[in-house]
Amino acid sequence: MSMSKRIVVKIGSSLLADSQQLTLRYAFMHGLLSDIAKLREQGIDVVLMSSGAVALGLNAIHKSPEEAQILDKQAAAAFGQPLLLNAYKQVAHEFGFDIAQILVTLGDMEERRRFINIKNTVERLFDNGIMPIVNENDTVTTEELRVGDNDRLAAKVAQMIQADHLILLTSIDGLYDRPPHEDGAQFIEKLENVGDYLEAACGTNALGSGGMYTKLQAANMAQQAGCNTLIAEGIIDRPILSVLNGERRHTTCMAFGTPASAWKVWLTNRLQMAGSLVLNQGAAEALVRTPQPITHTDIISVSDTFQKGDILHVYDESGQEIARGLTNFSSDEVLLLARHPEASTAELLGYSAVPDVIATKNLVILNDNHLSWDAPTEDIHLVAS
Ligand code: GLU
Repeated sequence: MSMSKRIVVKIGSSLLADSQQLTLRYAFMHGLLSDIAKLREQGIDVVLMSSGAVALGLNAIHKSPEEAQILDKQAAAAFGQPLLLNAYKQVAHEFGFDIAQILVTLGDMEERRRFINIKNTVERLFDNGIMPIVNENDTVTTEELRVGDNDRLAAKVAQMIQADHLILLTSIDGLYDRPPHEDGAQFIEKLENVGDYLEAACGTNALGSGGMYTKLQAANMAQQAGCNTLIAEGIIDRPILSVLNGERRHTTCMAFGTPASAWKVWLTNRLQMAGSLVLNQGAAEALVRTPQPITHTDIISVSDTFQKGDILHVYDESGQEIARGLTNFSSDEVLLLARHPEASTAELLGYSAVPDVIATKNLVILNDNHLSWDAPTEDIHLVAS
């Protein structure tokens, strides 16, 4: 804890909104900001990732959490977000500091230029001693375009600011090896391989969108970025310090020793898949042995419609995800190149280009502990037709 310089704290909706009344839990907010004030006094930069906008706006939209549809949630977020931030501002002032609001979408985090703009904003706020409070901009996102849970967004923010701790405060004290209500469920204090516990971690609660599953996905993203994740119950009194000081039970997901460069971590940590490639087995095996450019002759199929600059997921023939990387060509161009291996790029595309579909500098081979994504089963275009 004494080494910590940057922390992202994520608060679930059920901690900020009373589950029956859907009103703000001021006592929790008070305890939370009291702890954050103490961290700030120690010179620690804190970003707060706060849910709660939708939950706090539902009364105004006359919907319960169970019956709210996407339009209701969008409107509820528009109502609840200023309510939430107003409360944060007032309580933070009581503790002598100021806050600012950053609303982000999935696209903002996955598009490099916008990601850098957000990062620069956070840094400038830090320079001025202001704590950023981040939430997903639910009002402008449809179901398909939402991240949905703030757990993984918080991991993205942790990666963005190179935080050493990501603290996920929730309604349960941490991770169990099976659903906690089952007999013999064992508490997990420390884990490194997130994949071992994914099956046990299903289910969400009515107020929030996340659950233990998204928390483990977040933890996996954070550990790849060199950040420890602490999952703990959001109690009212000293919710953060009691965890950081090891005074109460929580689950720690350990960071991997040396993270890749910030660029490669950004490339690897994805919230949405733009498209994918399947490589022939020889090329896939060679790639895993020694990182090397992926060329059009390696590819046997392409999925989805993607653009130059999108990040692709790369699979071997058995459907195992082996790498991710930034494509130099659109999906149409990749298919054209792959289907005509004898022709030059200039002949096929009308401009001369390096023939690598993914260059080594823009490619990451996934390590064994990285949670891989299932290969797409739709919108697949074979190279040999
Ligand atoms: N962005 C949503 C809100 O502010 C919550 C998402 C989540 O439950 O993590 O209400």
